[in-house]
Amino acid sequence: MDALVLQPPRCRACDTILQPPGQICSACHAEQGRAPQQIMQQFVPAKSKGTAVLLTFLWLGAGHMYAEKIGVGIALAIIDTFLVLLGLTGIGLIIAFPIWIVLFIIAALLSASAVEQFNAKTAAMYLR
Ligand SMILES: [Zn+2]
Repeated sequence: MDALVLQPPRCRACDTILQPPGQICSACHAEQGRAPQQIMQQFVPAKSKGTAVLLTFLWLGAGHMYAEKIGVGIALAIIDTFLVLLGLTGIGLIIAFPIWIVLFIIAALLSASAVEQFNAKTAAMYLR
């Protein structure tokens, strides 16, 4: 995923981060050409913890996938599928439902913290 995230454009002359529209460096007034403006539009938007928790509620693992923890997300989704199948047997619901509640609480907290990490990581790329 990191490969898709581009660095903010910097001045060719003095390495100051350019502000849009960014044709001329605000620090040293060096001309930048056309490329910086195009790169500027690649900012990664922040993700929402509420969305991660909601997705986790709808299907365990979905909140993790949203926070780009794909491996954990897939593992949780497989466990959730198993729990749903167990619940469909009727009597299995007695076992599946309490397990689901415990896993949901843990997965919701973890997906929210994964979103925080994701936001901190992407923000840090622009604030260096
Ligand atoms: Zn400059």
